[in-house]
Amino acid sequence: MTRATNFPADAIEEPAARRCGTCTLCCRLPDIDALDKPANAWCRHCVAQEGCRIYEARPQLCRDFHCHWLSSQRLGRHWEPAVTGMMVYEQGAQVTVLVDPDRADAWRAEPFVGELRQWAAAVEVQGGYVIVFAGDTVTRIRP
Ligand code: SF4
Ligand code: SF4
Repeated sequence: MTRATNFPADAIEEPAARRCGTCTLCCRLPDIDALDKPANAWCRHCVAQEGCRIYEARPQLCRDFHCHWLSSQRLGRHWEPAVTGMMVYEQGAQVTVLVDPDRADAWRAEPFVGELRQWAAAVEVQGGYVIVFAGDTVTRIRP
């Protein structure tokens, strides 16, 4: 899922310990067919601000998923999902940004929108693209 090399090199920062903590954004924003969960709805197994109540038995896809902020550290710390309401990951050529619909304009503020445009410029050279999903609004980011 992750193609970290698509991101511009100057976005890399020194590794630092990052943890999900109380973030549960990926248990709410994505649609997950295997759990019969639509987008922007809580997984029935999630306890908000606490985590998964079936953690030891959670599906493999949940075990395997790490958002970009958590896994690549090519996103600055200011992209922390629990703070921004935004999570970033990659699906093939698509860099996906999911935004909490309660804060649907969060991605439009700086420095986020500026960095999204930089990512778009970097990944389009390699045939990729950046898409922001914010509630019912889907936006392709242009460099
Ligand atoms: S969105 Fe990222 S930081 Fe938040 S719980 Fe999921 S993997 Fe962890
Ligand atoms: S099963 Fe657990 S880890 Fe997976 S989406 Fe639901 S609450 Fe999150």
